[in-house]
Amino acid sequence: MIKAVRGTRDLLPPETETWNFVESAVRDLFRLYNFSEIRTPVIEDLQLFQRSVGEETDIVSKEMFAWEDRARAASEKGQFLALRPENTAGVVRAYIEHKLWERPGLQRFYYIGPQFRRERPQKGRYRQFYQIGAEVIGPPAAGSESPAVDAEVLEMLAALLDNLGIKGWTLELNSVGSAEDRRRFNEALQAALKDVVHTMCADCQRRAQTNPLRVLDCKVPEDQPIIEKLPRIGEYLDESSRTHFDEVQKILLAVGVPFVLNPRLVRGLDYYTRTAFEFTHGALGAQNAILGGGRYDGLSESLGGPPAPGIGFAIGEDRLVMTLHESAGVAARPVDVYIAPLGPGMNVEAARLARELRRQNVVVSLGDESFRLKKSLETASKMGARYALIAGENEVKSGQFALKNLNTGEQVTLPAAQIASKLRP
Ligand code: AMP
Repeated sequence: MIKAVRGTRDLLPPETETWNFVESAVRDLFRLYNFSEIRTPVIEDLQLFQRSVGEETDIVSKEMFAWEDRARAASEKGQFLALRPENTAGVVRAYIEHKLWERPGLQRFYYIGPQFRRERPQKGRYRQFYQIGAEVIGPPAAGSESPAVDAEVLEMLAALLDNLGIKGWTLELNSVGSAEDRRRFNEALQAALKDVVHTMCADCQRRAQTNPLRVLDCKVPEDQPIIEKLPRIGEYLDESSRTHFDEVQKILLAVGVPFVLNPRLVRGLDYYTRTAFEFTHGALGAQNAILGGGRYDGLSESLGGPPAPGIGFAIGEDRLVMTLHESAGVAARPVDVYIAPLGPGMNVEAARLARELRRQNVVVSLGDESFRLKKSLETASKMGARYALIAGENEVKSGQFALKNLNTGEQVTLPAAQIASKLRP
């Protein structure tokens, strides 16, 4: 038997109802904040992620689905490709490729789609998972660096979780400083690591040389006491980073979005600058982050674009749906009527009736003329249909149809034109 690939899964009804509910709720909310949808390809040039997420991150060094795509014709070039592990890099690539800075003001995008990381699968962690994300990006002159943008994005996220009825979330907030702050912090980390790093894991030993900040992402339990004693980024923020961070907090307090400061939060991607955040939820267990994000002021330049500071986030949709299931599932709209064609030749009449009812926004499930009445009624009850409509030769001839309420057992006889109004919930 061929099964779904390890770390991937089928999303089946009725769970897909919750996915649809979440997606339509977030689309409505994003509109209120003037965000519009962007769809970028699932396949990108491998270099895009090496240059943005960073070569020393776990995502790029260990978890990427990447391969060499050889040229198939003389006119084509071979190239290294990857399935996207996240969507910010693709959005910024599109921003540069289509010169979106020529459009007025700030660009405010959202996306919903699958991402791929070859991680060790466990509850809440998959190799194909789904993210709902948004990005605000634009030239500095359009206000893209403003702390007000950070606060607006965070307030939108709080509203989003509240609207979905998710209770008990925590917003963890930190500033990871400017590129210059990070350079000084990396030096301090390197100095602090010098005498202890030989006792740490092989990854940390390598990162201490290449990208010391990533040592802070290490999950090896034995390394944690050492990491706990390392310097904190907050001590290395310059005046402008500190003022920026203060302003974000001031607005959040004013609009009533609660947060906690987490000086250890550095996020596992290289492109973040200044504001970095995660929303966590107790019900999720070990994989407790529902979403993460932050500012990425130098990302566009590192991909060959003009200065285009930005901020964004990605919600783990799989985890969002999980937390919703902890509270209450979402039910599909029930079948309004099951049409039971009785006798040979009646499929034609049933199809005609179904077409007319669906045009009037009625949910119809069609039976088959080979079924006897008893089997039809049983089938209708099992699928939770509210009514059964009987379409036999006599009904068609007289133009009067029997409509049975499957909850009460009550049956009425109606002309075709009156069926829809009787069925509407
Ligand atoms: P990141 O892009 O790493 O900042 O992740 C943002 C969010 O995506 C996380 O907070 C998770 O909710 C979700 N996420 C990341 N990796 C996975 C995964 N392998 N499986 C399920 N959700 C994930």
